[in-house]
Amino acid sequence: MELEIVEQRENFVKFFLSGVTPTFANTMRRMIMSEVPTMSIDEVIIIENTTPLYDEIVAHRLGLIPLKTDLGNYNRPELCSCGGQGCTSCEVSLTLEKYGDQDVEVVLSSDLVSQDPKIVPVHSNIPILKMARDQKIFLEAIARLGRGLDHAKWQPISTVSYKNYPHVEFNLDNCTYCGDCVEICPRNIIKIENDEIFATNIINCSLCNQCVDVCELDAVTVSVTNNEFIFNIESTGALSIEDILTEALRLLKEKAKEFKVHVDDF
Ligand SMILES: [Zn+2]
Repeated sequence: MELEIVEQRENFVKFFLSGVTPTFANTMRRMIMSEVPTMSIDEVIIIENTTPLYDEIVAHRLGLIPLKTDLGNYNRPELCSCGGQGCTSCEVSLTLEKYGDQDVEVVLSSDLVSQDPKIVPVHSNIPILKMARDQKIFLEAIARLGRGLDHAKWQPISTVSYKNYPHVEFNLDNCTYCGDCVEICPRNIIKIENDEIFATNIINCSLCNQCVDVCELDAVTVSVTNNEFIFNIESTGALSIEDILTEALRLLKEKAKEFKVHVDDF
């Protein structure tokens, strides 16, 4: 297996993966999406709410705020030594107390006060609700580790996708350099320069096959192999991309070991 990073920005990575089967690529995508745990608000105790927003809507919005996650120091409640009762190893309490002293006030994610400075909202400017003068919101929110398998709020990513790596080839015996394929390509990857036709930024090819269809001389072929993929991962910021990949592969290894034990027992 070979992995080569093509593009990397904060919370985003595009990489080329080769030497694996489509099954492995899809398993990796599903492990990232459904199995890598993150911290999310899972229970809300409303002490006072005189804002126009219903308690349920406030709780739902709180659950969807991505929280920075510290995987090393917390257990998933079902795997915790407390047996899921709730303890400092599997729960973090965040409080929100705000009194409206202006005509209109927006309560933001930065107004949440966490008991653990490591478990805080990824973005400080997420609006939770608007309140008018003299209105009040006071609540306690309990965050727990969970998996995307149970609820999308626990997914560590906003996007994880892959596509087959495209190969665009030209049959120069048939090509008349008419430029039709250059014109029709929506991603502008085909170029004709100095009587030469070639594809650039091949990674941007969407495999639409329009260049193949437009060429009546069959001079263009677009193909894929079964062991080369382009992966895109965009993190919510709860975990770094490195942590997401490392954890996904560790969990996959664990599952494979468990599967082997069951097969051996069979
Ligand atoms: Zn516990």
